[in-house]
Amino acid sequence: MSHATVIDGKALGERIKGQARREVHALAQEGIKVGLDTILVGDCSAGRIYARSQQKRSEDVGIEYRLHELGPHASGTEVRDLILRLNADPSVTGILLNLPLPEGIDTAAMQYFIDPYKDVEGVNPANIGLLFYDNPIMAPCTALAVMEILEEAGVTVRGLDAVVVGQSDIAGKPTSLFLLHKMATVTSCHIATRDLAAQTKKADLLVVAVGKPNLIRREHVKPGAVVIDVGINTIKDEKGEKRVVGDVAFDEVKEVAGVITPVPGGVGPVTVAILLRSAAEAARKQLSTPRRLEG
Ligand code: NAP
Repeated sequence: MSHATVIDGKALGERIKGQARREVHALAQEGIKVGLDTILVGDCSAGRIYARSQQKRSEDVGIEYRLHELGPHASGTEVRDLILRLNADPSVTGILLNLPLPEGIDTAAMQYFIDPYKDVEGVNPANIGLLFYDNPIMAPCTALAVMEILEEAGVTVRGLDAVVVGQSDIAGKPTSLFLLHKMATVTSCHIATRDLAAQTKKADLLVVAVGKPNLIRREHVKPGAVVIDVGINTIKDEKGEKRVVGDVAFDEVKEVAGVITPVPGGVGPVTVAILLRSAAEAARKQLSTPRRLEG
């Protein structure tokens, strides 16, 4: 028997894409073309497949997509120079640096070069710092997706005991900060957390962003809790077929949770749509703010 309300991330993602499409169209009326310039470094066919779907999704809402590829032997200087060139080009409104970068290139240093107003994923330290003050120019899409889902589900975050499992820079940590700003009492769990279940069982709101299938079982969850599963893991099922699952054992946890996101079809499609909306927002902010970086 299923008790939990299951969030339809695909439908929410479609609505957010609609917002993106409308904003891209409105900007076009004002003479601004929204673009997404993505950088792929190294010899990765997986990255190219991902880029193709990024392109399709971007074009679907009217965003001009351009892929800039640097080979596996590219140096940090070449990556930096490309980013600086895109920063300086007024026809470029959004920059996305695909990860991972080849070994030997300092990822954080490269993210530092992205103009914070073109930083559609909110990875520049300036944006991360502004997030600390609840005022980022652009913010990490996954954390934004979690907050969007909570709003969609009608969850009032203020006063809730929130537990976030995982503290990565793109998912766990920014989500914890967003929840803190919304006045949840936030506990951040990670690899050194001694008794994970003891923490998660206290949670009215449990966000899991780890990358380990079945990390969260029924006994980890407080009855009626809101459970947001950020994890995306490819496993082989009993028949040896590949399947995508989250970090939460969905079938058993949905019996106790009040609200739950599935994988696939939960946070993933919302994150993808938020990137498109962020690309439009970045273009809008560049248009409306006098506070631009010098090239
Ligand atoms: P990550 O950088 O590898 O971070 C994983 C985090 O989990 C780390 O903070 C780590 O702790 C913590 N952790 C690892 N094992 C743990 C355990 N047994 N108990 C508690 N915490 C543990 O991963 P990520 O980039 O945040 O991604 C996490 C998952 O979300 C992945 O499956 C990824 O594919 C997925 N993801 C989904 C979306 C989406 O749109 N749905 C977007 C991004 C990522 P330490 O920091 O202490 O090592």
